[in-house]
Amino acid sequence: MLESSKSDMEDRISDIHGALVNLHGEPEPPRDMHPVDSVIHTILSQNTSDENRDNAWDDLVSEFGHNYEAIENADHDELADAIRTAGLANQKASRIQDSLRTIREHTGGEYSLEFIKEMDVDEAQSWLTNIKGIGDKTAGIILLFRFGMDYFPVDTHCERLAKRFGLIPEDASYARAHELLTEHVPSDIKYSFHRLLIDHGRAYCTARDADCSNPVCEQFCDCEYC
Ligand code: SF4
Repeated sequence: MLESSKSDMEDRISDIHGALVNLHGEPEPPRDMHPVDSVIHTILSQNTSDENRDNAWDDLVSEFGHNYEAIENADHDELADAIRTAGLANQKASRIQDSLRTIREHTGGEYSLEFIKEMDVDEAQSWLTNIKGIGDKTAGIILLFRFGMDYFPVDTHCERLAKRFGLIPEDASYARAHELLTEHVPSDIKYSFHRLLIDHGRAYCTARDADCSNPVCEQFCDCEYC
């Protein structure tokens, strides 16, 4: 499969996507969220569960509302306390405040990412990843979820399943996985395919455990683990 043409690869991805939709259902669209909220939300997501992230987010909003100026200028320890349930609270508080400062300085005073719409994907990714604490995955989620850009964020489930479904080489680095999937996953299913690979990985194929008896894997996984 890996040596197939681009259109063969896209066909295979579309077939896997269809099977994933049949099994898991079409994912809900991304939450309607202000892009700056999205930056904070994705920082809170790092290395924690969705539940802990959501609890930290709710605590943050109840403490500061969506007042970015207040969050940027908050006492660091106070902010860390507000987001404690997300884990790595000191590091995440610094990253949130650094991000808000960078955005405000770039726009000359506003907490807005509207300027991203004027950028191409590479430029936007590079701008976001220059913010300390925003890596490729975080930037990718913002670009795909908030701006609908043609970008495929790769998390651990996406990377593992793309390898096991033969979409990328087993030894592909994270960067190469991202490059290949961004190139080959059709634009109109990038969001859905990203979400479904995560759903499928969580349900059937984690780093420690694999439950290979499901219709998607029975049809598409050629890996040696089954
Ligand atoms: S068949 Fe098994 S190892 Fe392969 S992707 Fe599915 S759950 Fe993972």
